Amino acid sequence: MTPFPPPHQVVLSLGGNVGQVLDTFARSKEMLVNTIGPIIQSSRLYFTEPWGEPDQPHFFNQVILIETGLSPLQVLQACQQIETDFDRKRSVRWGPRTLDIDILFYDHLVLETEELTIPHPRIHERNFILVPLMEIIPDWVHPVYDLSIEELYVQCEDFNEVMIAEEE
Ligand code: ADP
Ligand code: MG
Repeated sequence: MTPFPPPHQVVLSLGGNVGQVLDTFARSKEMLVNTIGPIIQSSRLYFTEPWGEPDQPHFFNQVILIETGLSPLQVLQACQQIETDFDRKRSVRWGPRTLDIDILFYDHLVLETEELTIPHPRIHERNFILVPLMEIIPDWVHPVYDLSIEELYVQCEDFNEVMIAEEE
């Protein structure tokens, strides 16, 4: 059990660079609403330089805040089912994919298990996550670093480009 009462606030990131990604995002968000809960806030769509493995197409990225009664593990399972539905192949680490859904935050919970690390361990290293988060929750405090999203962004040394994509 978590110390926070439901509904819980879960912040998810969507990413993808294979296929009709905008269509995949639109359909996967409908599925997220049906399985996890209503989307309370949503960033714009971003078009981003690939992080970690540069030899691949640019990504689309977006972050959303959902309210849910599900546990963190249930949220992970729902996200993974949707990834599988979009034919996600798990091959190269940080490599091309149709759809990646990561859990960034779940309330202000800190959790480290074999399947799940919350907050997601690389939030503070990635412009493609921090820039969209700045739009929706700039004051959200990272429970491990005790710094806001805005403070993490100022400290971040990622120089990969993050651009606003076409509005949805
Ligand atoms: P990545 O997102 O790092 O490119 P994957 O999407 O293939 O890689 O995820 C690999 C594993 O990461 C998943 O099987 C999942 O159990 C684990 N994982 C740990 N923490 C998280 C998190 N916060 N959000 C999503 N997956 C996570
Ligand atoms: Mg993932």
